[in-house]
Amino acid sequence: SIKTAAQIRQEFLDFFAAKAHAITPSAPVVPQDDPTLLFTNAGMNQFKPIFLGEQQTYAQDGRQWSRAANSQKCIRVSGKHNDLEEVGIDTYHHTLFEMLGNWSFGDYFKEEAIAWAWELLVKEWGLDPDRLYATVFGGDEKDGLPVDDEAIELWKKVTSIKPENILRFGKKDNFWEMGDTGPCGPCSEIHVDLRSDEERAKVSGAELVNADDPRVMEIWNLVFIQFNRQPDGSLQKLPAQHVDTGMGFERICAVLQGKTSNYDSDVFQPLIQEIAALASKTYGKDEKTDIAIRVIADHIRAVSFGVADGASPSNDGRGYVIRRILRRAMRYGWDVLGLREPFMHRLVPGIGKVFEEVFPELQAQLAYVISVVKAEEESFLRTLGQGISLFEQVAQDTKEIAGEHAFKLHDTYGFPIDLTRLMARERGLTVDEAGFDRLMQEQKERARSAGRFQAVTSDAQPWNFMPGHTELSETKFTGYDNFSVKA
Ligand code: ATP
Ligand code: MG
Ligand code: MG
Ligand code: MG
Repeated sequence: SIKTAAQIRQEFLDFFAAKAHAITPSAPVVPQDDPTLLFTNAGMNQFKPIFLGEQQTYAQDGRQWSRAANSQKCIRVSGKHNDLEEVGIDTYHHTLFEMLGNWSFGDYFKEEAIAWAWELLVKEWGLDPDRLYATVFGGDEKDGLPVDDEAIELWKKVTSIKPENILRFGKKDNFWEMGDTGPCGPCSEIHVDLRSDEERAKVSGAELVNADDPRVMEIWNLVFIQFNRQPDGSLQKLPAQHVDTGMGFERICAVLQGKTSNYDSDVFQPLIQEIAALASKTYGKDEKTDIAIRVIADHIRAVSFGVADGASPSNDGRGYVIRRILRRAMRYGWDVLGLREPFMHRLVPGIGKVFEEVFPELQAQLAYVISVVKAEEESFLRTLGQGISLFEQVAQDTKEIAGEHAFKLHDTYGFPIDLTRLMARERGLTVDEAGFDRLMQEQKERARSAGRFQAVTSDAQPWNFMPGHTELSETKFTGYDNFSVKA
């Protein structure tokens, strides 16, 4: 029988609970006390103080734990990890996804991490071991980083993997660092080959690992934190070695449900069908329509949890990321699905319900989130159609959208630059981004000199009285405390 997503998540947590892991809640997608990070982008974020050595264990239920596991909501649309352009076009990168993770804080190390990952995937879940690949760090001479021979030996010793399915990769894929200095180490990833036996006989999956082929997909990353990078670049062995793993929940659900697209699993199908019904379309008939439906399904999840966790649409910081995602989805709705009324907010209740047991924060603030999304939709719908008309006009007989047009789309019609870029790319056009940046800069300077004038003339300067004011503080959440929905 086919397992549901809810069962798969629970089985992951039960598996590690049985191995003495604390099951911890997901941190919010908006980091609570890490101004260096726009959004939570990995399960390890909340455990950073432990990896930095500021804390030894994780405290929960009056106990100190050296092992933990959870499902963490992650958003990857900014900074080091930005998957936005792939989303909807491919079938396995999302803006918001769940990362299933298990951690060792100076407790078990490579042997258990590898053995348990294999046990869960092959023994518990029955994946075909011949279809699994393990990547290991192949070293980097220039950087003085050794080959992870230990991991290579352990894959052979504690799993039934074919030796030829153990593959070496370089720093980009198989070495993890928190920053220029600090904790770091090699990683081992598990990839799964979803192609038919026929296709596999023709081309070895080994050639498709880390090659952006959706049919040979990365599912689980096991990071072995064993070094501390010094300011002079040298590596020191950490006194306490840690394990940090992350498995893509939507990906493993698709695999276990026999699907080749995450959107075909029960994680996304109810939402996909709801959008198709709203637009009077059928999913799976036309690629352009399907991409639009996938983008909307993906983006409304990110927007819903982003807003629930404290990032409401705004003009900067986290709020602007949420605004960009929402507007990107709305444009697909307008242009491809012909939707002319606010529709995204109507999808929020279904998401709240599905996640009620796992991430109750959305259901708990449902009315608030719906109203924020609806207001943003109504606001952008006032200019979206005109903006599209302007774009159509200026996109005729040219290879490049002029900077002034991109600026006008931004300034007058609320089109974020990445939306203009996307629309241009769909027609094989480029955007004069240098020209756009120049106009944005000029506008900023105008605003700044206006601001200085105001600062001199006004004796009430509230920003002087805001303790701990940081660059990101305007995105700090005060929303639902003083919010009420009018009936
Ligand atoms: P990929 O190479 O597919 O972009 P990654 O190497 O960037 O993945 P990691 O940082 O290793 O990803 O994250 C751990 C796991 O999280 C991955 O093995 C993958 O299963 C999952 N994952 C990463 N990015 C996404 C995403 N945008 N959407 C869904 N799952 C993701
Ligand atoms: Mg990636
Ligand atoms: Mg990868
Ligand atoms: Mg990876």
